[in-house]
Amino acid sequence: MSHPVVTADVAVVGGGIIGLATAERLTAAGLSVVVVDEAGIAGGATGVSGGLVRAFAPSDCDEDLASAGLAVYRKRGWHGSWPAVRGRGSLTFLAPGEREAALPRVASLLEAGHKAEILAADEIGARFPWLHTVPDEYAVYEPDAGWLPVRDVAAAMVQDAGPRLRLLRARATHLLTSGSRVVGVGTDTGPVGARAVLLAAGTGSTPLAAGVGVHLPLHTRAVGYCLFRLQARAAPLALPAVVDRATGAWLRPWDNTSVVLAGAFSPLTGVPASVRRDVPHQEVERVRDILIPRLPRLTGASAVGGVAAYDAMSPQGPASVGVPPEVDGLVTATGWNGGGFKLAPAVGERAAGLLLEAMA
Ligand SMILES: Cc1cc2nc3c(=O)[nH]c(=O)nc-3n(C[C@H](O)[C@H](O)[C@H](O)COP(=O)(O)OP(=O)(O)OC[C@H]3O[C@@H](n4cnc5c(N)ncnc54)[C@H](O)[C@@H]3O)c2cc1C
Repeated sequence: MSHPVVTADVAVVGGGIIGLATAERLTAAGLSVVVVDEAGIAGGATGVSGGLVRAFAPSDCDEDLASAGLAVYRKRGWHGSWPAVRGRGSLTFLAPGEREAALPRVASLLEAGHKAEILAADEIGARFPWLHTVPDEYAVYEPDAGWLPVRDVAAAMVQDAGPRLRLLRARATHLLTSGSRVVGVGTDTGPVGARAVLLAAGTGSTPLAAGVGVHLPLHTRAVGYCLFRLQARAAPLALPAVVDRATGAWLRPWDNTSVVLAGAFSPLTGVPASVRRDVPHQEVERVRDILIPRLPRLTGASAVGGVAAYDAMSPQGPASVGVPPEVDGLVTATGWNGGGFKLAPAVGERAAGLLLEAMA
């Protein structure tokens, strides 16, 4: 191995929200960290994330991470320096038959100190008259959840980390090893030596892991959103952040004008890992059609922009923070599949803990 040009206690590949949250936790523990990213800070999925945050997670794997993540976001990060959670709460519409399973999850959120309640259709209509509901429909309402400006959060994490964090704009090409131990990252600007390495580079993690014999299958899934400007004469809507489990749609106010950010689940996988600001007309109409039954005011709204992007997902199951058994000194945190922002503070804490163990 050539002599490292940069050394640190930990090298983090990926300057998205997962890598940055982990890096911040490591610097808070007194370690030095190099974050390697070819696109700079928040240059991947993170930079265009809708930023919706909530504690209620209908799947077992995300439940604790979402709850712990929102707790950190609510106190404006570990040092009180992040932007405050915005909006008028979060409303997660349940798919038919999900109410029973939601009851114990809401109870555990209350125990964890969050505010949450299950609203029936008439209560939803009374609080949020712009949203259309049907009888026998329920939603979990979290008044302290909402959304965050993702780039500002990422910048605040870097700020919090201080001088122990170094950013290296470079492409990671391979992992450096000594025997069965990972000892750094090779990059197109030279090697980075480290006592442990985190792979948080989305689908870019897969070839790096493969180089040291670790199977980390990931592929991209299309994730994007459209911006709709409601008709000029309409008053701004007092909307919460909405996630609709029945249709896979989601929305939030864009700002305090009459623009709404809206997306809908896409099953498209294997898309390029790139960000486009021109959403195809067909996608705009798909999203609009899915959302009009929930927000009838989208009828006649003009499309004023949006994002066509991606996130990494694991074909084998849920996202995970893992310690591959094949090598020492390596931790992975990948596969967030369109939902990683809300989990990031908790994922960062977990990954940092595993990296500390990996160095011991
Ligand atoms: C349009 C959109 C809306 C979303 N909305 C929400 C939401 O409302 N709420 C929510 O919780 N989640 C949301 N998500 C999901 C969330 O944003 C992602 O799960 C999260 O940002 C993933 O973070 P990450 O750090 O794992 O990946 P990324 O942000 O993709 O970071 C990975 C980084 O690795 C770098 N990289 C890759 N390969 C290499 C290499 N070889 N060398 C160097 N660098 C490399 C890339 O440049 C990139 O910056 C959304 C995602 C999208 C795309």
